[in-house]
Amino acid sequence: STAARRSLKIGVIPADGIGKEVIPAATRAIEALGSDIPKPEFIDLVAGWETFTRTGVALPKETVEILRSECDCALFGSVSSPSRKVVGYSSPIVALRKELDLYANIRPVKSVAREPGHESPVDLIVVRENTECLYVKQEILTTGDNGKEARATRLITERASGRIGQMAFELASARPRKHLTIIHKSNVLSVTDGLFRETVRAVPKLPKTNGKYDDVTIAEQLVDSAVYRLFREPEIFDVMVAPNLYGDIISDAAAALVGSLGLIPSINAGDNFVMGEPVHGSAPDIEGKGIANPLASIRSAALMLRHLGYDTGADKLDTAVDAVLRDGKVLTPDLKGNSTTEEVLQAVLKRL
Ligand code: ATP
Ligand code: MG
Repeated sequence: STAARRSLKIGVIPADGIGKEVIPAATRAIEALGSDIPKPEFIDLVAGWETFTRTGVALPKETVEILRSECDCALFGSVSSPSRKVVGYSSPIVALRKELDLYANIRPVKSVAREPGHESPVDLIVVRENTECLYVKQEILTTGDNGKEARATRLITERASGRIGQMAFELASARPRKHLTIIHKSNVLSVTDGLFRETVRAVPKLPKTNGKYDDVTIAEQLVDSAVYRLFREPEIFDVMVAPNLYGDIISDAAAALVGSLGLIPSINAGDNFVMGEPVHGSAPDIEGKGIANPLASIRSAALMLRHLGYDTGADKLDTAVDAVLRDGKVLTPDLKGNSTTEEVLQAVLKRL
């Protein structure tokens, strides 16, 4: 299907805060790829806190409709969140994941090798299930003999675990090390985490996979020890797959291993759509100053292109970003440099 595309329609949703500064940098980097990808067409769309304050809706129906009917993929910036709960407002990114069934959150975390070709000490991907677990948000508060009692439902299904498992095996089998670690806590939560673990383990044995994951080695880690080992010996991990809550925690912990949030990309992926999104938030403390690091967004664009099968374009973006980082001369303040967003973008474009 990728070969048949004449143009690549990309929904662009900078949303709030520094999203407005870094997403345009990513679209310009994509434009610079020329014939490595089908001709990109950018479709500007709105969502977020500012949209909510203006219109009363955080995620306009039109935005979802256009993404569904016209776009091949999208780039999302970041949303500001009000400090207090505001009636009627809920995060558009959570809603978008639901509307477009983006069931996987994929976050590669990689430190930059000192020399090209050398191995990076940290080079892993966290694959987080994005639709269930404790985040189904079914919480109830009652009062009993012990005073108030709060309960939450944790949902794990075979379907969701199977499809996230499949995505993780697919990613692992495309990497040099072909190693997958399943994160769970089934020694304590034998029913829920047991189902997750068993279902993921069964993926390579499914008839439809046709033996294509046979060369992926499988390991398991209890989530607590996984975090410990992530900090002690991150090099043991290649691809990690986890239910929603553990995945949330692990992916932030992994991000801390390589420094600035301004470097870390992600995609939200489903069977029919993929959306690139830098991991950082709206960064109100530096908003409007022109110094936000655009590299997380450019890497998110690369990840999105790779997911769609445009490896050459993705490789070029990643190589350019790595070169700028290794060079170390043009960096934004979060990386102890004194360059602007625009100057870092120019450095990337020059490498491209
Ligand atoms: P939000 O509620 O939108 O997540 P936040 O206050 O938590 O906002 P984050 O965006 O999560 O802010 O960022 C946390 C810190 O990291 C901030 O100090 C921010 O300036 C910094 N930071 C995040 N992204 C970048 C970036 N792309 N470039 C430079 N600094 C960044
Ligand atoms: Mg934040």
